[in-house]
Amino acid sequence: MQKIAILYDASQAVLSTFDLDEVLRQILQIARDYFHLQNVAILLLDKEKQELYPRSQIGWDAGHESTRLSLEQGVTGAAARQKRPIYSPDVLNDPQYVSSARSTRSELAIPLMVRDEVVGVLDCQSENLHHFDNDKIDLLTLFSTQASMALQNARLYSLERQRARHLEVINAIARETTAVLDQEELLIKVCSVIQQTFRVGHVSVLLRDDDGLMLRASQGKFTACAAAGGRLPATSGLWGRALALGKTLIEDDVRSSSEYVGFYQETRSRMCIPLVSFGQTLGVLMLESEHSGSFHEGDVESLEAVADICATAIQNAHYVERVKQLAYLDGLTGIFNRRFFELRVLEEIDRARRFNGGMAVVMVDIDQFKRLNDEFGHLLGDEVLRQVSSMFHQQLRKIDVVCRYGGEEFAILLSQTNPQHALAVAEKLRRLVETWQFPGVPQCVTISAGVATYPDHGTTRDELVKSADAGLYAAKQGGRNRVLLGPTRYKAAAQAGTD
Ligand code: GH3
Ligand code: MG
Ligand code: MG
Repeated sequence: MQKIAILYDASQAVLSTFDLDEVLRQILQIARDYFHLQNVAILLLDKEKQELYPRSQIGWDAGHESTRLSLEQGVTGAAARQKRPIYSPDVLNDPQYVSSARSTRSELAIPLMVRDEVVGVLDCQSENLHHFDNDKIDLLTLFSTQASMALQNARLYSLERQRARHLEVINAIARETTAVLDQEELLIKVCSVIQQTFRVGHVSVLLRDDDGLMLRASQGKFTACAAAGGRLPATSGLWGRALALGKTLIEDDVRSSSEYVGFYQETRSRMCIPLVSFGQTLGVLMLESEHSGSFHEGDVESLEAVADICATAIQNAHYVERVKQLAYLDGLTGIFNRRFFELRVLEEIDRARRFNGGMAVVMVDIDQFKRLNDEFGHLLGDEVLRQVSSMFHQQLRKIDVVCRYGGEEFAILLSQTNPQHALAVAEKLRRLVETWQFPGVPQCVTISAGVATYPDHGTTRDELVKSADAGLYAAKQGGRNRVLLGPTRYKAAAQAGTD
């Protein structure tokens, strides 16, 4: 009769709620009351560390909740190892006993099994010697299956909840990302939403470009390795294989992988998901964890759905970027236009100011271009403009900016430059044009240029442009095909004005 009552109560407890803490508490109370136990606990198995730790407990001395026991230790360890109940009728005379409560005289540990796998241990302790007889052991063993079932139910329920949560995230990401058209902002948002929702250590977006992959954004709590640069080869590493196979890949323990290339010190496991939009692989979404074996096949589906949305959003942002770029490009020559120059010159001045450096504005104008048009036709004139643009572009460093300022006039921004160097660069361009054989033009084409530098000739956009323009005008007056530094009077005038 007692048997039926206790099992009935236990199953009622299991069915009463999905809250695992509440179910376990009820189960422990039933065990304590029916079997008159002083200390009773459900310990769970930490698979990675092969340790048991208390998940729920009644009784015990203070501090027990934070103990961890290896499977080699104690009656509980033996039960988990041997997958059967272990009974110690007189603990003080049992060499395998590990004391966890002062009053305990006998202990019964029953493994909690899900299918044939141990997930924890029900630990029952009494202050009486020989407290458990065979009937009690049988009944508690039967009873323990209710605890296992509660654990299993709670696990399934939390998996289900996690799935529902992932669906919510997918929707949230879809909502948030479609609204963000700035690529930088979007990538950071993608990383942080994924990092928070999926509770991973670090999330990064690697995007393809001409030379390989670039680490474009990342969010998380990890410490970057000293070696972590922005650029990565697209063919090596886990990301390389994920890209090549077009498949999500997981690395359970990076330390045992020979191809491992790390970005962060804490990484133990990671997952790479290709970012694919309309059949085009844009890059890889990389999730990293400080624990080994953190990523599971079960998560792949939700994360791929997230990656799909991100890829589309990244593609959209890319198009927007491109459209924006087109607004700053000159249609005839393909180099930047005046609008771009006006913006970039401000940034360059600002940078020079912050780093206490120098920069230069060079205004260039093709000599007698009207005559060239008149003699050889407008189409050939256009071709000369294109060729001059591309010569300038090729001659200058990547950090310099060449813009078509208007008509046959160019504005060039040289960063980190002093007056002598800027003059030398302009002079090099002048000589190059002078000696260049333009197809279809049986005569020399020449240019004149004026150079103004920060901070010598001016400290604002207007001052620098005016000074360079004046230098250009003087070069024209002086007979063309020459390069001159601009005057410093504009700077002086501006200073006088603001003083
Ligand atoms: P200077 O040496 O004093 O600069 O003389 P210039 O003839 O080069 O100067 P001017 O300002 O008198 O003439 C500029 C000419 O550039 C007039 C215009 O037709 C021509 N031009 C401006 N934009 C274009 C263009 O896009 N294509 C062609 N082919 N010609 C252009
Ligand atoms: Mg001209
Ligand atoms: Mg002109």
